[in-house]
Amino acid sequence: FVVALIIINKLLSSVGQSKQGFGTTSLPPKLSSLSIAGKLHIDPHTLNIASTDFGNMVREYPQAVFRPSSVEDIRTLVKFVHDGKEDSSPLKNLTITARGHGHSVRGQATARDGIVVEMSALSSNENARGGRVSVSVSQRKSHGNYADVGGEALWIDVLQETLKHGLTPVSWTDYLYLTVGGTLSNAGISGSTFRYGPQISNVFEMDVITGTGELATCSARRNRDLFYAVLGGLGQFGIITRARIALEPAPQRVIWARLLYCDFSAFTRDQERLIAINGRYDERALDYQEGAVLMHQGSPNNWRSSFFPASDRSRIVSLITKNDIVYCLEVAKYYDNSTKCFVDKVMEDLLQGLSYVPKFRFQKDVTYVEFLNRVRDGELKLRSQGSWEVPHPWLNLFVPKSRISDFNVRVLKDIILRNNITSGPVLIYPMNKNKWDDRMSAVIPDEDVFYTVGFLQSSGPDDWRDFDLQNEEVLRCCEESGMGAKQYLPKYDARDEWKKHFGSKLVNFQRAKAKFDPKTILSPGQRIFN
Ligand code: FAD
Repeated sequence: FVVALIIINKLLSSVGQSKQGFGTTSLPPKLSSLSIAGKLHIDPHTLNIASTDFGNMVREYPQAVFRPSSVEDIRTLVKFVHDGKEDSSPLKNLTITARGHGHSVRGQATARDGIVVEMSALSSNENARGGRVSVSVSQRKSHGNYADVGGEALWIDVLQETLKHGLTPVSWTDYLYLTVGGTLSNAGISGSTFRYGPQISNVFEMDVITGTGELATCSARRNRDLFYAVLGGLGQFGIITRARIALEPAPQRVIWARLLYCDFSAFTRDQERLIAINGRYDERALDYQEGAVLMHQGSPNNWRSSFFPASDRSRIVSLITKNDIVYCLEVAKYYDNSTKCFVDKVMEDLLQGLSYVPKFRFQKDVTYVEFLNRVRDGELKLRSQGSWEVPHPWLNLFVPKSRISDFNVRVLKDIILRNNITSGPVLIYPMNKNKWDDRMSAVIPDEDVFYTVGFLQSSGPDDWRDFDLQNEEVLRCCEESGMGAKQYLPKYDARDEWKKHFGSKLVNFQRAKAKFDPKTILSPGQRIFN
């Protein structure tokens, strides 16, 4: 039986784009004697799923997948591995990773020969999706309204639960089928970041199981070292089992517009002008602002959202063909019954004087949920065509404002247009540094305004390496021209690259690791300490 499992595992690993190794098929004897051993799964199908992610380019087989029924189960596992990690122990090299929804693209939620904790099991135990979302309408002014949500909760479930109370989180990602623990381990960014900050800036407190197996509640006041380390901490310091998320009254509808530009400096000037109005409670501010690059492609729409009306398609395609590259500014303003009467005026005031190509402004009026969940339709369409579970050689960067026009010339107009292989959305939009908290682990450029640039590419099973070669060319170009760009959702192979990435934050990051995960058990797939 064991031999058969090994053969199946070997076959499975050779079918995928195997990089290294495959798991053994039995647990270390000490582990199998644990009370929670029945929740460890080693069947090849389960191991195979846990060995890869949305990126579909990495295969790292764990020894087992753990399906916890409770937070205490996870604590027991981590404590056991921590306590048993002496040099002579069979647990010596054992690692543990929390897997949210596995939507990383470079194996960040895998654990080669370790244990993957399937966080979604916590919610299935509550008999319902969204089971671990509890909304509080607080009397305490300093905290306002909030939701306590499980680290495994999907943001779509948080949205649906909070809307039942007329409330909503304010900082979002573009795609809502990501977990709270997964995005808080990175930052959680989108068009709302310029005004509300990333998702990590909208958390009041968390429960975290550290690498020593302790369960601690942390906030800006209590266990603050842990709090700041975990936010943007790439899963290195603990497993988030609960987060308290800030809520505000929910709007009902959204005016959603896209404006096309042929001139990059006009595009960025207008983007920067719009994000300058960013007060959290400033009625004049946009609620969302992103941007994208449109290049020679069949349709100006893509899986992230089908926005442009069919009747305008051909004139938009002509504009792109004529210019090779067109920039699309995307904005949204929320409203409800009480603000309905002046939302059009606010939008007109904001967009007045912008330098988009005349007659290339498009607008829609949609529900709040339709707007936030806009990527889902595209996902379902791609799934039905078998095009969702393909390799995704994505690259996400933060580029300082002072170098963004250089980036346009050297990267977008040279590398990307010349190679002509990019297939998928290319995002580009600015954010305000003052909405980020420097005490947190997330790494951003040292400039008041910086841009996020995302190459969200899909490839065929065999050509993702071509995209990776292009990604390397982009990174090399940024490096050689001293742009000071930082990777978002970072992936590095060498210790020196991590050192450079963290820069002045390295010392704190290392110190926190030594304190909260001294035996380097957690999140080995990030390849920082392991
Ligand atoms: P996983 O990929 O499962 O885990 C990511 C990392 O977090 C791993 O290191 C893991 O060990 C750790 N982790 C997971 N859960 C926990 C926990 N509870 N406690 C501690 N550590 C944990 N990101 C944005 O910021 N904005 C976007 O708009 C956006 N859009 C996306 C759209 C798509 C289609 C996809 C696939 C990804 C997108 N992302 C976006 C990236 C996303 O934020 C990351 O993939 C992130 O890792 C969340 O995915 P996940 O919840 O599946 O986490």
